[in-house]
Amino acid sequence: MRSNHGSASASEAAPGAAGRLVVVSNRLPVVVAREGDGWRFEPGSGGLVTALEPVLERRGGLWIGWPGISPEALAEVRPHLADFAADHRFHLEAVPLTEREHELYYAGFANEVLWPLFHDLQTRCTFVPDYWEAFQAVNRRFGEVVAAAWRPGDLVWVHDYHLIGVGETLRARVPGARLGFFLHIPFPPPDIFAKLPWRREILEGLLAYDLVGFQTGRDRRNFAACLRAFLPEAPVRGRGRSQHVVHAGRQVRILYFPIGIDARAFSDLAGSASVAARAAQLRADLGVENLALGVDRLDYTKGVPFKLEAVRRLLSERPEYRQRFTLVQLMVPSREEVPGYQQQKEEVERQVGEINGAFAEPGWVPIQYLFRSVPRDELAALYRAADVCLATSLKDGMNLVAKEYCACQVERRGVLVLSEFAGAAGQLERGALLINPYDIVGLAARIHDACQMPAEERRLRMSMLQRNVASEHVYRWVDDFLAALPAAAGAASGAG
Ligand code: UDP
Repeated sequence: MRSNHGSASASEAAPGAAGRLVVVSNRLPVVVAREGDGWRFEPGSGGLVTALEPVLERRGGLWIGWPGISPEALAEVRPHLADFAADHRFHLEAVPLTEREHELYYAGFANEVLWPLFHDLQTRCTFVPDYWEAFQAVNRRFGEVVAAAWRPGDLVWVHDYHLIGVGETLRARVPGARLGFFLHIPFPPPDIFAKLPWRREILEGLLAYDLVGFQTGRDRRNFAACLRAFLPEAPVRGRGRSQHVVHAGRQVRILYFPIGIDARAFSDLAGSASVAARAAQLRADLGVENLALGVDRLDYTKGVPFKLEAVRRLLSERPEYRQRFTLVQLMVPSREEVPGYQQQKEEVERQVGEINGAFAEPGWVPIQYLFRSVPRDELAALYRAADVCLATSLKDGMNLVAKEYCACQVERRGVLVLSEFAGAAGQLERGALLINPYDIVGLAARIHDACQMPAEERRLRMSMLQRNVASEHVYRWVDDFLAALPAAAGAASGAG
């Protein structure tokens, strides 16, 4: 897949010319599964894999991550990982982790501490000291694997909250390495970050990189405020795009890069004849004038219970929507091993049962609830068919669903109702109807406004949204980050 962004971009550099790219993430971009006596490799899914694979194919390099299997199984798989490089221009390097290590570091520290805290939900945190120990040990292990693979000229790009601490090991082992880090989730304000028993260590961990990238200006502001509060010996200097931190004799750039989607791929898919036919069939089957859609991973940060309460309110206060409004709520299974997720599922299913029980009539149910993932073309058909998309996150790094919905709105009939606490709100505020998801009365009112919006206003708003998602696409995000990194090693002025 080629970048559709500009020319002479950082990701389009000739192979080897700009140094190898070393991507580090929790999971490798392949799914390894047993097949008979051997092993099968399937390509991984998700936006990060889609965005970074073509860059690695062009530039050459390495992807380092956990393969999702035990160290014993990895010993068998390792020779086959080497075969992967025969078909690709980049290599895979697996970090061995026991099930127990992965549980403590990933389910424990990453998803019971950092995830809820960084989404402002500190009451969901369990600050277990063993989690922190495991997090440090696993991050060191990742750092050692990267250091062993590192060659002069390499550019290392570490992804997300699970691996904040990798930079420190690398900086100690390879002091001159060029190191970038991107935080895909929000960064919390000082009042909330203060609760973290290891707050100084996390801040110092981030300052081991040359460039720390956030999703939005809000996250960068919060990070700078936390530094001022908890690490005053690391002053934040400069303004806007040239902001940096001075720490341990080095300068660390802090910038924000809102992640995008492959908008063209989504709009091409949504525009295909098969998706058009499926979207028409969905509309005919559901048979309502107002088809609303929610697409969320099972996660308490997504605000699904608030969305359902708003639908309950809409139907009880405005009976004219009965038989005329349906919400298709897709919930994608996720992190069911982490406490709180199962409870969220039960809460949502109880609400769906109650609302459907109270309002359904023969031939019509107000909420169609799907607990599974769906193939990409089915998702595109749902996006294309829906009159309203309800993205009601309580806090979200970005919310790609909101952007994908816009890209798939071929007829520009749809209205995006978007949480003001999603990172995407910063880019999409002009075309979307912004809501506070905690305000159930306000949310119900906005759903009504969306359903009543005249066709011309819908078209104008959706055109604005589509222009944004088409220009701020994921390949541009990659280019912008990589372009900011080379200048980062020790240099803080003239930031882009
Ligand atoms: N998605 C998916 N399978 C589905 C439905 C959605 O893989 O059945 C994808 C969707 O296309 C989107 C991602 O899941 O790219 C969700 O990203 P988002 O930023 O909205 O939330 P996150 O899950 O990263 O918190």
